[in-house]
Amino acid sequence: MSESCRRDFLSHSGRAACAIAIGGVGVELGRRACAQDAWTIEANRCVNIRLGVTGASNVCESCATSCVLPLSAVRAVNDHSQCGRCCICPAYFDVLSPVGPDGLPTKKLCPRDAITRTAIGEVDPYDPLNNFYEYAIDEEKCNGCGRCVMECKDPAGLGSIRLEVRHDLCLRCNRCTIASNCPEDAYRRVGPEPPPASKLEGAHG
Ligand code: SF4
Ligand code: SF4
Ligand code: SF4
Repeated sequence: MSESCRRDFLSHSGRAACAIAIGGVGVELGRRACAQDAWTIEANRCVNIRLGVTGASNVCESCATSCVLPLSAVRAVNDHSQCGRCCICPAYFDVLSPVGPDGLPTKKLCPRDAITRTAIGEVDPYDPLNNFYEYAIDEEKCNGCGRCVMECKDPAGLGSIRLEVRHDLCLRCNRCTIASNCPEDAYRRVGPEPPPASKLEGAHG
């Protein structure tokens, strides 16, 4: 290679290397900038949360199955201030399962046994429907499959259980895989500041 060709070659490769390096920095800065954005679920779009859709066959499990984390950053939370503390909670019990001797459905709805049911006050054995219970969701077990959310809304429930992005867990991926797979376009980027979480577990109204 002649000296001038060699200089041209080095000059071009140097520019190319610079361009790649600058591009890389730009991409990295862009990735970081975008990575500051939080994701949230639009309740009136999500099929599991919005009113008018019920039934196990309509449950969307994409929030549980699409996240890059081993256990999704989306979890169910129960807003205790809105919960009816019902004796037969359709989010806790599989209300279509056979009824046991105690008059309650024999199966639970949650496939991960993530919901606990604790009596509030003394239980009156003669008037079960006059007893009230606290339903708590174990976030370490919940994967956001949405079944309980689908059941806890009109006409059977009061809508106190919702799906939420846990911003303390979410990696804020630029290309969120849940957003890419959401069939309802309900998973939205909301900018650097995540919206305040609704009442979380243990927050009694
Ligand atoms: S979202 Fe699914 S895993 Fe989580 S508590 Fe509800 S039914 Fe259980
Ligand atoms: S941004 Fe990443 S970590 Fe967060 S919910 Fe989406 S896929 Fe999961
Ligand atoms: S993927 Fe979309 S529609 Fe499905 S549960 Fe998540 S937010 Fe709701």
